[in-house]
Amino acid sequence: MKQKDLLLFNEIVHTLLKEEKESPVSPYLEVDQVSTAVDVNLTENPLEDNEVQEIIKKVVLKTPRTASKAFFNQLFGGRNSRAVLGDLLAVVLNNSMYTYKVAGIQVAIEKEIINQVVRHIGYNQNAGGTIATGGSMTNFMAMVMARDNANQDIRTKGVKRDLIIYTSNQSHYSIPKNASFMGVGTDNVRYIATNNKGEMLVEDLEQQIKIDLSNNKTPFFVNATAGTTVLGAFDPISAISDVSRKYGLWLHVDGAFGGGVFFSNNYKKLLNGIEYSNSFSFNAHKMLGTPLSCSIIVVQQKQHLYQSFAKDASYLYQTDHDDFDLGKISLQCGRRNDALKFWTLWKSVGTVGLANMVDHQFLLAETARDYIKKSSDYTLYSFDDSTNICFNYKNICPQHLCTLLYEEAALMVGFGHFKDNTFVRLTTVNAENSEVDILNFFTTLEGFVEQHMDVLNKTS
Ligand SMILES: *Cc1c(COP(=O)(O)O)cnc(C)c1O
Repeated sequence: MKQKDLLLFNEIVHTLLKEEKESPVSPYLEVDQVSTAVDVNLTENPLEDNEVQEIIKKVVLKTPRTASKAFFNQLFGGRNSRAVLGDLLAVVLNNSMYTYKVAGIQVAIEKEIINQVVRHIGYNQNAGGTIATGGSMTNFMAMVMARDNANQDIRTKGVKRDLIIYTSNQSHYSIPKNASFMGVGTDNVRYIATNNKGEMLVEDLEQQIKIDLSNNKTPFFVNATAGTTVLGAFDPISAISDVSRKYGLWLHVDGAFGGGVFFSNNYKKLLNGIEYSNSFSFNAHKMLGTPLSCSIIVVQQKQHLYQSFAKDASYLYQTDHDDFDLGKISLQCGRRNDALKFWTLWKSVGTVGLANMVDHQFLLAETARDYIKKSSDYTLYSFDDSTNICFNYKNICPQHLCTLLYEEAALMVGFGHFKDNTFVRLTTVNAENSEVDILNFFTTLEGFVEQHMDVLNKTS
């Protein structure tokens, strides 16, 4: 790495951090200007180096600011300094996690994370785990392991029967998407109804399983969601696990969003029964402040990882320590080191620090809910024990409000739907925010509405 580029990197980041403080939402870039706002054209011959440097700076400053105090749009946020440090080092080191030979001590780091997670959620010494490119892919791994567990011939012969998947109607879209990838088919996904908090109705689950069995179908997989995308609801894992075991089905807990609560003594109750699941995944890049992406899956019986993902490749596996050649249990071949950033964070703050991050996000959510409850201008759609606060303000159309807030570079926040309602969804997953930042969100929103009342009223 050239000294010149290290200096340039520092300079660009300093400028960005300063800009971000002054304008936490980057100026809106119209779609029809996105290719011309900065010279992004790739050319036959290089430009002068100082021109290239200027262009790189401009690109950085024109990029949406997802780590600022005004970003509430998705289920991640903030910029944890230690985690970023770890990620930068991973880039410079550029290992691939498939073999001990090229990953070395980084293997110990990934294994330590897996072992700790396994211990915290109550799996035993037969458990194992790995890291994939995101929650969609860790869900995919769980589904493939469940499929191969249901019938080992599927790996060689393909799917021959109607295998059935159960998931709530509030679950993530990666479940049906993966169902199509894995040859099960989206028609074989059953969407189980939820109660008014968005939690899966366990009686409906059992009833649907019985119907499928009587129709000669093959149920094999139940997905419980820990932290649904819209309401942040937690399915009742314990009761779902009773049903799953009764019918011999694989239970996966998709904790991509909320799974990180197991670190907190105050909130791990939301995962009650997690030790009875067959697999569990969570994104450290959501609740735990780690840069994208860091999605961890653990499985009750490590052998399932080998059964579904091991493939002999003599050009790759030239040394003989199976347990340390992590490529044998991963989805891909070359694999980025996503463990180091989570480890540098965890090592720096301890498990207590991770628990504090989780608790703090719930505290911020409570602050937001309390604020909303105090004013008759707001309608609240959310419940306790969730870090998503869904609301409407003065009956203004939420789609329109969120779009205008974005275009005017005031706030980045999204909207969601549940049953017959559409609302603004504020999420408090940035642990670097304070209660004041949350209150500022509402002050900004209210001032904005005041100022844009004519436009907002016209279309709502
Ligand atoms: C975010 C999310 C996913 C997908 O994770 P990616 O890392 O974005 O692929 C899956 N399930 C739930 C519940 C999520 O919130």
